[in-house]
Amino acid sequence: MMSNNQGSYSARFELDTRPPSDRLAREHCMANRVQIEKIDRHRDEQVRIEFPTAKGAISAIYTVSVFHNDDADLVLLGRKIENELQNCQLSNNACKGEVIAQIMIEDLDGDKEAEKRGELIEHLDHYGQNRKLVVIAPHGGEIEKWTDNQAEYIGNHLSSDRVSLWICKGFSSKDDDDAFERWHITATDISEKSFPKLNTIFGPKFEYSIAFHGWGKDFICIGGSTASANDGLIGEIKDAIKNALIANGSNIDVKDSDCPEGFNGNNPKNIVNRLGIKGIQIEQCMEAREKYHDDIAQAVADVIRPRINM
Ligand SMILES: [Zn+2]
Repeated sequence: MMSNNQGSYSARFELDTRPPSDRLAREHCMANRVQIEKIDRHRDEQVRIEFPTAKGAISAIYTVSVFHNDDADLVLLGRKIENELQNCQLSNNACKGEVIAQIMIEDLDGDKEAEKRGELIEHLDHYGQNRKLVVIAPHGGEIEKWTDNQAEYIGNHLSSDRVSLWICKGFSSKDDDDAFERWHITATDISEKSFPKLNTIFGPKFEYSIAFHGWGKDFICIGGSTASANDGLIGEIKDAIKNALIANGSNIDVKDSDCPEGFNGNNPKNIVNRLGIKGIQIEQCMEAREKYHDDIAQAVADVIRPRINM
């Protein structure tokens, strides 16, 4: 079977080393407009890049945030895979590889294989016409550990005709802890055009949407849309999680205000708010995820259950 080759193009990758004020965001890249449109991608969508290293090909996903009209093959990369790029096997002094329209490979047979191959895999559980609740973990696998388990926990503890699940799992390369660098796309940038399963549940918004995340800070922050705040839902979830932690002997701090800018889940562009009217974003420290992932998910399920069963 010959691929028609329209899904990718040969590129030359360069790290964006312009002064910080002009520099692309870490997960953004700049590419030639005609080339991107030829592979049927558009600005603000994700592409996959691939280049050779001594240890084999390395892949990562980027958001195309800016176009240029210079050399057709030039792709300027934000710094998220700076280290990996240093290992690129150069040809004619340049890092040459591919820009690929599909961010996920097609022949993956489940999570085990995705893990073995250090790949990215997307899952969707969605039955019938559910528009009540969608629970998401866009950064599961080794990107933000345990967040996928939490989404699955809620899916297993609420009736499946009222909860849909969308989960992405990204895994590290062998001997490298690089899942975050290679597969993380910030929640406000995630394009349904680049995640085929996510795309199938776009349409009328769900009544509720909940996103599980992990971060490097040492506390938990509950954020969400204005509709969730006005409804009291953010506060309710915060109290439920705090009580669950106390009951388990943990004093991890749980906040629902003064969350750091960019992590308070109130941006309408955040994927959780583009999916649901009452969006909730849960940012969690590693200790909370590692030790209390089920307790936290249970607390969230208990708050949301009576609301979706009405
Ligand atoms: Zn995240």
